[in-house]
Amino acid sequence: MDSTKSQSQNDGKTGAPSSTPDLLFSELQTAVRSYLPNQDLSPLEKAYKFGANRHGPQLRVSGEPYITHPLNVAIILTRFKVDLASITAAILHDVVEDTETPLTEIEQLFGKQVADLVDGMTKIGKIEFRSNQERLAENFRKMLFAMAKDVRVILIKLADRLHNMRTIEALPPPKRRRIAQETLDIYAPLASRLGIYGIKSELEDLCLRQMKSDVYKELKAKIAVKKTQRMASIEEVKEKLETELKKYSFQNAIVYGRPKHFFSIYKKMVERHLAFEDVHDLFAFRIIVGTVKDCYEALGVVHAMWKPMPGRFKDYIAMPKANLYQSLHTTVIRPNGEPAEIQIRTHEMHETCESGIAAHWSYKDKGSGSNAPADPKAQNPDLKKFAWLRQMMEWQTELKDPEEFLEAVKVDLFDDEIFIFTPKGDVIGLPHGATALDFAFNVHSAIGLTTVGAKVNGRIVPIKKKLKSGDIVEILTSPGQKPSKDWLNFVTSARAKNKIRSYLRTQQRDKSRKMGRSLMEQACEARGFDLDKLLKQGHGEAMAKIAKESGLDDMFASIGYGKQDAKEILGKIFPEKESKPDQEGSAVSIAQPAISKTGPSEGILVSGIENVLVNFGRCCNPLPGEDIQGFITRGRGVTVHRASCPRALDLDPQRRVMVQWTGALSGENPPKGTHHAYIRVITRDRPGVLADVTLAIAACGANIQRANIQVSSDLLGVLDFELTLNGLAQLQAIFRKVESLQDIVSVERRISGRQQNGRVI
Ligand code: MN
Repeated sequence: MDSTKSQSQNDGKTGAPSSTPDLLFSELQTAVRSYLPNQDLSPLEKAYKFGANRHGPQLRVSGEPYITHPLNVAIILTRFKVDLASITAAILHDVVEDTETPLTEIEQLFGKQVADLVDGMTKIGKIEFRSNQERLAENFRKMLFAMAKDVRVILIKLADRLHNMRTIEALPPPKRRRIAQETLDIYAPLASRLGIYGIKSELEDLCLRQMKSDVYKELKAKIAVKKTQRMASIEEVKEKLETELKKYSFQNAIVYGRPKHFFSIYKKMVERHLAFEDVHDLFAFRIIVGTVKDCYEALGVVHAMWKPMPGRFKDYIAMPKANLYQSLHTTVIRPNGEPAEIQIRTHEMHETCESGIAAHWSYKDKGSGSNAPADPKAQNPDLKKFAWLRQMMEWQTELKDPEEFLEAVKVDLFDDEIFIFTPKGDVIGLPHGATALDFAFNVHSAIGLTTVGAKVNGRIVPIKKKLKSGDIVEILTSPGQKPSKDWLNFVTSARAKNKIRSYLRTQQRDKSRKMGRSLMEQACEARGFDLDKLLKQGHGEAMAKIAKESGLDDMFASIGYGKQDAKEILGKIFPEKESKPDQEGSAVSIAQPAISKTGPSEGILVSGIENVLVNFGRCCNPLPGEDIQGFITRGRGVTVHRASCPRALDLDPQRRVMVQWTGALSGENPPKGTHHAYIRVITRDRPGVLADVTLAIAACGANIQRANIQVSSDLLGVLDFELTLNGLAQLQAIFRKVESLQDIVSVERRISGRQQNGRVI
């Protein structure tokens, strides 16, 4: 039954003469009795009496006795056929917050389960939502935490919000707008994510009415007009579908034609910049049949009747949404040229669509709650069904930074999903644009951190390969693999991003701390001190204090990052005597041009001084425009490495100096091809693909010094090139050009061309 529609689009409901508490209560009893015929419903009566007593003469802004609100909330909840404890808690949900009643009293009278649910509601009630992003994320997290403990709390909360939105007219306009905005930001998406489309649509329409009342009124009027104009047409479609389905002897097939929700029409108009007149599919049709097999057969019948619109068919039966929504969606073009959207599903799927998570939530094995284990996952076995819910629970423990959390929620919670299969056939939902690496992190973070590649549908692909729905993915790992910063450039799921970030942070901090410590040792040595001794003598605290860091480790890290200077800190504790000759310990003095290993010395600025002999690291071949670092090499001046060069990590950090590109080489007018770069292009096997790639490279003005072609075991072409070019910008242009060619699987830059074998052309 499509109950929500009549409520949301019938203004009569909200303004209807209010029921008395007693009438509402008997309505509630009847509703509960209908699906719990054999249970003792006396706790409900007890809760009603207790609640009515505690709220006493309290009135709602509308002037009704307060108890009418919790009773209405309980009635909405019966839609989900929830257990008695939930209904009882719904009746009592505002008692602790709004009256002086202590929670212990609820527990004594109604048991621990009901008390816990009421407590959850009270806690959510205390959360104050602000439009400020940070607050929003923080609060969202708290709410999810409450939910993770017991999803029934969220069901009650949604029912609570729905009733408040239905009766919002009693409030002053600014307050209405604030509540409507919050509902749109938090509760409607949450209901959607939980698969409770009935509540989601009604909430959205109620919000639209508050936020854009003119739009709402206009839509309402126009739809009313179109509705009468088109009643015949809807009936015609409906009848045609019914007759045709009967012809193929479908049992119990039911066809509905219904106007779409205002909010979804409004969204379409905004998103596609359409005028109302240009929105054609104002009505949607739904076919409910007996079995899954019938769904596909009915689809066949529909597509035989009318031409399907390309790209609009979606099979959510084979691949349910994460919230378990299932249905076939198609849009067909009718003979008059107008599209009609048709959803096909079974009765069971239809129920799930209306109640979402609630339709699957099992209350039976919850027990009395007396010996509930501490682990919420163990407590709620059904969480397994809701991968995203589990993710949420992980995030909210992992993500300390509210902004990261909000980013995570935005990306993963509301974006379109793709569905990927494990080799065992499990389905994993990932955000649109997810790569093989995202998948790996989704399987397990330990797997993600050591991923070297993947097999997608049996073929080996690089980790940055974008996945498509239906791909079967197997991850290849190697214990020696370590995450790098550029991984962050192509993963899309929040989970992978966070794991990589946190790995890099730990690594980076560790490195910086060590480097900072040895820089300090060096500074001490230069002044004739011994760092260990100074620390033993208790100078460590003073050092940290001068550096304005909370401890020695923080100070070392900060020196290592280059934020602080070891010499300066030391100098503040032990001021230097002018007489002592300072050997200026760093770069330039060592860099006597002894052996003239020639390199382009101009173009690099070393620690602010020019004319130092400069070499470029052969290991990483930095290009003008890239982030770089320099290392003093005895007798050879300064060797410049990429900032990210892994070899440079093995070099003595004390020899590190600041370097930067200068003049012509920094960007605009670099001299021609003096720098080397190595790239690897993976292609599908096609005649002419090599020529395409080399032409593309040449077109960008680079020289190919060497090329090395191999065919991998899975018949991919592996093309390695050594190029001379003049800077990063040129390399980037090559990347763009080559990536845009046909049959290119990937293009990547390699650290060096050393590990080359095979045929050289
Ligand atoms: Mn309430």
